[in-house]
Amino acid sequence: MHHIAKPLPGHDQEPAVWLVGAGPGDPELLTLKAVRILRAAHVVLTDDLVNPRVLEHCPQARIIHVGKRGGCRSTPQAFIERLMLRYARQGVRLVRLKGGDPCIFGRAGEEMARLARHGIDCGVVNGITAGLAAATGCGIALTMRGITLGATFLTAHTEDGRSPDWQALVRAGTTLVIYMGVATLANTRRQLLSAGMAAATPVALIENASLPQQRLCRTTLAQMQADATAFGLRSPAIMIVGDVVAAARTAQSHAPRRRRQA
Ligand code: SAH
Repeated sequence: MHHIAKPLPGHDQEPAVWLVGAGPGDPELLTLKAVRILRAAHVVLTDDLVNPRVLEHCPQARIIHVGKRGGCRSTPQAFIERLMLRYARQGVRLVRLKGGDPCIFGRAGEEMARLARHGIDCGVVNGITAGLAAATGCGIALTMRGITLGATFLTAHTEDGRSPDWQALVRAGTTLVIYMGVATLANTRRQLLSAGMAAATPVALIENASLPQQRLCRTTLAQMQADATAFGLRSPAIMIVGDVVAAARTAQSHAPRRRRQA
């Protein structure tokens, strides 16, 4: 049986290290908890995909950029983890800020495990993951009664060359929400077609979800490579594959209106 330890009176109940989801881009999609923790932070280690406007909640903090953008020069993960350990040991209030949700392709698992091995407790604050924001921003409901029983969040890009079980994915019939998929789009198309997915399956490609520059390209599995090229699709983008895309509220992208800079 597990007991939940009560903090001793006078001791800080909160972990000193937080992994915080900054959401997909729109700074209004931040949680109240994320804002509270950012306001109290001493040091913030932030990813590239985090909207700089989110950092307006922590003007008091020392901000360190530790971007890990695919294909570009980036800070090695081991270095980021060492930096986290160093600050955690100094007893500063540390926030590791990540785009979307820390636990969806955010390496939160690795960072939590590393901290835990050194006896450091850390908390996680969810953020709205890009796949959800991309769907909602284009009027797509990822699950719909009578169409699909669920949605699968996956990536087709791995550093170690592993790839998803495409046949199993097609057989399961869930909506596919694909992250980091721009560079491997042609391969994804080929794999899904050869695993038996219908060529006419609707696809939405959403670039810069939730930001004023959000763009939507609606296509089909067969056409998506040609259409993505013509559209000039660039990262960061989410691919949504499945019949729920055809049932979307409108064909238009509902990008938030451009706001004046504060
Ligand atoms: N933890 C993040 C995902 C990080 S992986 C989350 O939960 O959203 C990086 C990938 O996320 C990008 O390659 C892209 O596929 C997706 N992504 C992140 N922000 C996005 C945005 N604003 N619009 C579209 N895709 C985005």
